[in-house]
Amino acid sequence: MNVRAQISSVFHLDKCIGCHTCSVACKNQWTDRKGVEYAWWNNVETRPGTGYPVLWEDQERHQGGWKVEGGELSLRQASPGASLGRLFHNPNLPVLQDYYEPWTYKYDDLFTAPAGDVQPTARPVSLVDGKPIDIASGPAWDDDLGGSGTYAANDPGLAVLTEAERTQLFDLERMVFFYLPRICNHCLNAACVAACPSGAIYKRGEDGVVLISQDVCKGWRMCVSACPYKKVYFNWETGKSEKCILCYPRLEAGEAPACFHTCVGRIRYLGVLLYDADRIAQAASRPDQDLVAAQRSLILDPSDPAVIAAARASGVPDAMVESARRSPVYRFVKEWEIALPLHPEYRTLPMLFYVPPLLPALARSASDPDGRFFTSLESARLPLRYLAGLFGGGNEAVVEAAYRRLISVRVHRRAGQVGDVSPAQAAAALEAAGL
Ligand code: SF4
Ligand code: SF4
Repeated sequence: MNVRAQISSVFHLDKCIGCHTCSVACKNQWTDRKGVEYAWWNNVETRPGTGYPVLWEDQERHQGGWKVEGGELSLRQASPGASLGRLFHNPNLPVLQDYYEPWTYKYDDLFTAPAGDVQPTARPVSLVDGKPIDIASGPAWDDDLGGSGTYAANDPGLAVLTEAERTQLFDLERMVFFYLPRICNHCLNAACVAACPSGAIYKRGEDGVVLISQDVCKGWRMCVSACPYKKVYFNWETGKSEKCILCYPRLEAGEAPACFHTCVGRIRYLGVLLYDADRIAQAASRPDQDLVAAQRSLILDPSDPAVIAAARASGVPDAMVESARRSPVYRFVKEWEIALPLHPEYRTLPMLFYVPPLLPALARSASDPDGRFFTSLESARLPLRYLAGLFGGGNEAVVEAAYRRLISVRVHRRAGQVGDVSPAQAAAALEAAGL
């Protein structure tokens, strides 16, 4: 067994308040430079929504990630071995408008809007030759604009829902969004590394952080299109690609990355995982439905003496094994199975995991006059199928299992501390969660 150590993270989505402090901390530290004005190594998008860059999940358009063909794993885009002509003509890149350009608001709208159920919104516009031009979207549009799902409705993930479910989702009384903070996943099977013809992108041996050598990068941007999460950015000033470096200088000084350190909601957990590097290709080529389980199975028990011995034999320092033993990420992902990878079907084996959002309980609503909203999976505010498309590779069962555990904790706390859920309800939820 070839054991490697990987620095990994968990973002607990119910705790994110969408303040964007993380994005600003990162921007101030790393991308406050000419050439990367448009780049947010850390961004926070609202879901349902179209994200940043817009519609980044449209893998047909951008040709990112891996696919399985004839049982073999292959990159979706042209292989690095393709002709040089192909390399210089990469048609799958997002354009600047996909990332958005600076904008202002059409404040006149606030004064001229007709009376309606929601407060008027100033539309975002770009000024071209002094004239306002409508902007199609931005990273957290519906949230920024206080709109009623106008932009969110374009989220391609909603295609799995029925018309009735979509209507309910954007019903003003029940309308719901959650925040999805995103950084580079520092994937185990990184598509950006595999696609780089010049060998400029590499995964650090000691902790798996994915970095781009600025000396070696030729600016061909195969990594930009290959990354299915669109987390590599081209610096038009230097002519090189750039990406999140997980604040490795801070890590080496024993500090958390800037976005973790500044996170207002304290949603971010950092920890080391030990994994079996010999089984990466096998795990990444599993059918979509099995990918979460396959990814979990790669992660080794850091307290198992056999794993510790194999880690030593593979050259993993004892300090990393000790970090893995204390890792909150291991507990979230492997022990409790409540943290899931985003879009595992891209097959890059992302090392950032998310606790899916239960979303705040409504205190009271017409459909739930007692205010006992969401004490069971059946009253979930977001359809499970939509969440399974984000966090389960389409497998509802893995998301449902995580949800049942989260719900059981919620009702347990509400029964014990708030007192608005009966002990019988709490017991039923625990039983349903298999706890
Ligand atoms: Fe590479 Fe994208 Fe994975 Fe980051 S998220 S390691 S840029 S493939
Ligand atoms: Fe969410 Fe934390 Fe970022 Fe605020 S700082 S948007 S709480 S991840």
